[in-house]
Amino acid sequence: MQSAELAEKCGVFGIYSPGSEAARLVHPGLFALQHRGQESSGIATSDGLQLYLHKGMGLVTHVYNEEAIDDLPGFIGIGHNRYSTSQGSTLDHAQPVLPKDKILALAHNGNLPSTVLLESFLRDKGLPSANSNDSEMMADAIGYHMRRGSPLEDAVSDSYQLFTGAFSLIVMTPDKLVALRDPHGIRPLSLGKLNGGYVFASETCAFDVIHAKPIRDVKPGEMVVVDESGIRDYQITPGEQKLDIFEFVYFARPDSYLQGKRVYDIRKNFGRQLALEYPTHADVVIPIPDSAVPAAIGYSQESGIPFEEGLIKNRYIHRTFIAPSQRMRDQNVEMKLNPIREVIEGREVVIIDDSIVRGTTAPKIIKMMRESGAAKVHLRISSPPVRFPDYYGIDTPKQDQLIAANKSVGEIREWTGADSLYFLSYEGMIQATGLPEGTFSTSCFTGIYPIDIRERAGEIVRFPVPV
Ligand code: AMP
Repeated sequence: MQSAELAEKCGVFGIYSPGSEAARLVHPGLFALQHRGQESSGIATSDGLQLYLHKGMGLVTHVYNEEAIDDLPGFIGIGHNRYSTSQGSTLDHAQPVLPKDKILALAHNGNLPSTVLLESFLRDKGLPSANSNDSEMMADAIGYHMRRGSPLEDAVSDSYQLFTGAFSLIVMTPDKLVALRDPHGIRPLSLGKLNGGYVFASETCAFDVIHAKPIRDVKPGEMVVVDESGIRDYQITPGEQKLDIFEFVYFARPDSYLQGKRVYDIRKNFGRQLALEYPTHADVVIPIPDSAVPAAIGYSQESGIPFEEGLIKNRYIHRTFIAPSQRMRDQNVEMKLNPIREVIEGREVVIIDDSIVRGTTAPKIIKMMRESGAAKVHLRISSPPVRFPDYYGIDTPKQDQLIAANKSVGEIREWTGADSLYFLSYEGMIQATGLPEGTFSTSCFTGIYPIDIRERAGEIVRFPVPV
């Protein structure tokens, strides 16, 4: 199996806190990171002597019970929620990855579009990689150096050049925890402090839930080490920040900070900017919940058009991308969202969504609006058209599945059935972040990939459709 097919957009968490029961802190941390992956979850801990592991399929709430947490002793712990993809949906791929000899445990958020270097290193050393995914191969490379006597941090530094892609990693041994990011920091990873110990998490919302204090982001190309002698950081390689801008658009929780900015504020700015770029006459602004709510608030505040909840989300249906087939994705939209006729009937509505990817959601929502008696439906998207596949860990792997790679904006409007459709401009999106364009990976919008996608480059058509 081509390991890069296993795109993983996940949530990772790690803690080193002497005197604590680590599993009881990792567990709520994983709850807070549930939005980053709902397929499987796992926790590894250490009591200073050996590693313990529990993992299972499904949501955090299903994977752990009191007994499972009790069986995870120790003051060091890491955790992982795995994001769903259409392939590889089995317990085999659940993380943390723990080699048979339990020399280390590893949790990975990101994806390596190319594993050629890793595979050839492992082949050279006589280590089979045929059935391994990218995360397992990384664990094997680090483990190889450790079995030859290297301390964890040296083993990580020595393997680092083999990792071609996006990785925010948390790795532990029985007595040490390290956290590191790829040289471009594509996926987020933050460092915090708790009771004399240290915590790491994909997003700062996981600190709040255990009352940890955020300190800073782990820097691109940096490794932070925590053990009994304290905390140390090493710049393994020069870094250049290129955070995936889609974290701001959709993925991260609005109550997290990324690059020092509250995601909620940036999403509101996207909505404000959208209202400025395309002034529209309408009676009511309705978000597609939950992810488009901040943008709709921003849009409403800027335009003066009242905000209403016209679509109610069933909170117990999870992100629609999780469904492995298109048929299930189609059904999920209706199970997930229900309109409130009184908010919609006889009115011109502006529907705000944060993105159009495959084009599954939008036509169904427009249909719901019409069936609920909307006089007109204007669709506004708080990000530009997604025209390029992601190779760094979001599950949009094939360009032919991206509606904006195959249809012009006019054609998408027709496909959705909206009376009008506008996407936030690329420049407007960047400006609304208040951060320099150069600090982002914008690949899904621009096709510019800051980390070489090597053998995957042949899969991309550069300028697929007239805009
Ligand atoms: P689609 O229905 O395929 O056009 O996808 C767009 C919808 O899915 C929007 O409502 C987004 O909020 C949501 N979305 C965007 N990106 C992702 C993603 N990577 N995973 C899950 N949902 C997403």
